[in-house]
Amino acid sequence: MVSRVIPVDPFDLVIFGGTGDLARRKILPGLFRRFCSGQMPEEAQIIGAARSEMDDAGFRDMVREAVVEFGGGQAAEEMLEQFLERVSYEAVDAKGSGGWEALKGRLRAGRVRAFYFSVAPALFGDIAERLRSFGLADDDSRVVVEKPFGKDLESARALNATLARHFDETQIYRIDHYLGKETVQNLMAVRFGNMLFEPLWNAQYVDHIQITVAETVDVSGRGGYYDTSGAMRDMVQNHLMQLLCLIAMEPPARFEPDAVRDEKLKVIRALDPVDWHHIVRGQYAADDNQPGYRAHVGDPRSTTESFVAMKVNVSNWRWAGTPFYLRTGKALKARSSEIAVIFKDAPHSIFGPEAGKHANVLAIRLQPNEGMTLKVTIKEPGPGGMRLVDVPLDMSFAEALGPDAEEVPDAYERLIMDVIRGNQTLFMRGDEVEAAWAWTDPIIEGWQQRGDVPKPYEAGSNGPEDAAMMLHRQGRKWREIKA
Ligand code: NAP
Repeated sequence: MVSRVIPVDPFDLVIFGGTGDLARRKILPGLFRRFCSGQMPEEAQIIGAARSEMDDAGFRDMVREAVVEFGGGQAAEEMLEQFLERVSYEAVDAKGSGGWEALKGRLRAGRVRAFYFSVAPALFGDIAERLRSFGLADDDSRVVVEKPFGKDLESARALNATLARHFDETQIYRIDHYLGKETVQNLMAVRFGNMLFEPLWNAQYVDHIQITVAETVDVSGRGGYYDTSGAMRDMVQNHLMQLLCLIAMEPPARFEPDAVRDEKLKVIRALDPVDWHHIVRGQYAADDNQPGYRAHVGDPRSTTESFVAMKVNVSNWRWAGTPFYLRTGKALKARSSEIAVIFKDAPHSIFGPEAGKHANVLAIRLQPNEGMTLKVTIKEPGPGGMRLVDVPLDMSFAEALGPDAEEVPDAYERLIMDVIRGNQTLFMRGDEVEAAWAWTDPIIEGWQQRGDVPKPYEAGSNGPEDAAMMLHRQGRKWREIKA
């Protein structure tokens, strides 16, 4: 299978925070890979912008190092030098007036103009305002904003209002990099491009759905930020919620930005408030070998969760009665993100009770090894009567795509190219983000009011035992967390 690369229109992309961690680890290496694939046209220009004084040559050195360190692919040195010719830098203070005229001087007429806000959200308003007042942005320009998009409904509304003062909603690209993953888009292709699954995709045939985003990393190194956020704000409100929407939404009439986003919004609005008996919060504890969460964040009394598991109900005709179980955490046993659709047992076993129960499971792996597995029941080969066994029908994208698999862009690079194309389908709309906070806020407030203390769990485990018990009480079991 050959992946086709369609070059985008010539563009000027300004990365505010061009010297920061996200730019160095994700954005710049990703752009380099798009350049190598031929998707970035000759005339494209990338301009780094931050306060640090640096000339073009200094920034190019930084970009060269970042590309080498953070995986720019196997491309030849020659390609890297050609890419760097398209990269430049301007020292700009988001809160002052220095550098803005010079930055404007670098932009060229007749190109797509995009501004990536890879800076703290507190600077979004300052940058948006100056882009307009210094005349860098017009009604066709695009702005890309990073998470976190607020820390509650009130702050998200304020951020939306700030951006709306300067840009129309059609110009604003709120990134959730989970939406840029190949598998996530494949989920829509599988659901809406095949006849096979959609008739079964409802409470009549689906017993429950599990969405797991497990990380092995702990919070050391970013404890200060994390402790003000926690798993609920950092992961559930955005990434898990987006995955839930894509699994649960009705088929949009067209694969167009607002048609898709309207359907996602309806799912969020159909979520029931979560009963506190149906949530387990956890925090990894210290052991003989390593410090725990509280040491990592420098607060011996912290009650922020590094793990959360919950049962969520989508109250609509399609899903009433089918629970969605969400689970995410740090310092877990393996790095693994997956969505699993567990179908109901066959209504009657013609093979008798000894054949056991065999539910079909469609597992969609987001990382590592993006792909899908469908567990089906067959006869165990060989003599000895009708013994049933479950086997996986496995589709690894790397294998399915063969040698072109390396060409599959990672989430960030795909999303940046979508910005240049002006396609907002995989970006969150302002009302979606607000609806997600409106559902999340009461859960967090409930914890605060009750003085809830997360359950300790062992680093490298599956999370607190209570999470397993929560499903056990409902006659179900979490899928194993494995890489
Ligand atoms: P970072 O490493 O602290 O970088 C911040 C950048 O902003 C630096 O380039 C800094 O450069 C620049 N900056 C700070 N104050 C400025 C000002 N007044 N005017 C102009 N530039 C200024 O942060 P980061 O980790 O890259 O994160 C950037 C954004 O992405 C944040 O909103 C973060 O939440 C989000 N994000 C990051 C990650 C990640 O993996 N890092 C993942 C998801 C989301 P100077 O100091 O030279 O100005």
